[in-house]
Amino acid sequence: MSEKCIYCGMEITGEGIAREIDGDKIKFCSRHCAVMFEGLEKKGRMKAAIMAERNAIIADIEKERGTRVITMIHRREPWEEKDESQINIEDTEHVLMRLRQTPEDVDLILHTPGGLVLASEMIAMAVKNHQANVTVIIPFYAMSGGTLIALAADEIIMEKDSVLGPVDPQLGGMPAGALISLLERKLMENISDDNIMLSEEARKGLIRVQKMVMWLLEDKMDKGNAEKLAEFLTGGYMTHDTPIVFDVAKRFGLKVREGVPRGVYDLFRTFEFGACPRPQYAKY
Ligand SMILES: [Zn+2]
Repeated sequence: MSEKCIYCGMEITGEGIAREIDGDKIKFCSRHCAVMFEGLEKKGRMKAAIMAERNAIIADIEKERGTRVITMIHRREPWEEKDESQINIEDTEHVLMRLRQTPEDVDLILHTPGGLVLASEMIAMAVKNHQANVTVIIPFYAMSGGTLIALAADEIIMEKDSVLGPVDPQLGGMPAGALISLLERKLMENISDDNIMLSEEARKGLIRVQKMVMWLLEDKMDKGNAEKLAEFLTGGYMTHDTPIVFDVAKRFGLKVREGVPRGVYDLFRTFEFGACPRPQYAKY
């Protein structure tokens, strides 16, 4: 295998430029990359080296699959103190920008416990509206908002035990279905104003997500099956952390295929293990 530049990830042709940094002999593709790398702080160097490694892995996946890769991976970065744990509006900007700049077929590598509903909806819409094919690749899990995004894809590649999850909205940590049912279970005068308003929001949120799921599925299956799947995912029949595995997704008519490309796991090795938050909604 040819050597790659630690700063830019390009292949080193010929001798390259060698430098001794912190006692290690490091090779660069050019004088420019050596100077740039030497000018970075320690964490910056770590980041540059990891990003170059990732770019090289992604380039290999793109070559193998004939696609362009976009990633949305919520896992702790080795050079950062805080966790990027959820789908937020910055993810939306990143993914939308990349999709708009990429007219080709896209592989979207998804690894997330979910997050902001609006952010997830915007990404899902952009995935569905993308002019070429979008394949969502789920090596481990894409819960909640992540599942919503996966529903928008032309195809989902996962493993037998990768999981999707229900997409019913959660308001203040409470499931929409449970909030709505509060109004049927208790006398109105015994429910606080706050909870009455919250359950009204829950009702609107649930209708909105159901309509979104129906729209995402309308060109992928017939209306009857789309209604069944939308009801299953939003009806509040299961806790928000219930794993929906490959076989279940397939039985509901989603276009799923087994076999995450090896390169995706190489990519995950460049992230920090252990400290990332899990998709944990119910505690047992
Ligand atoms: Zn370089």
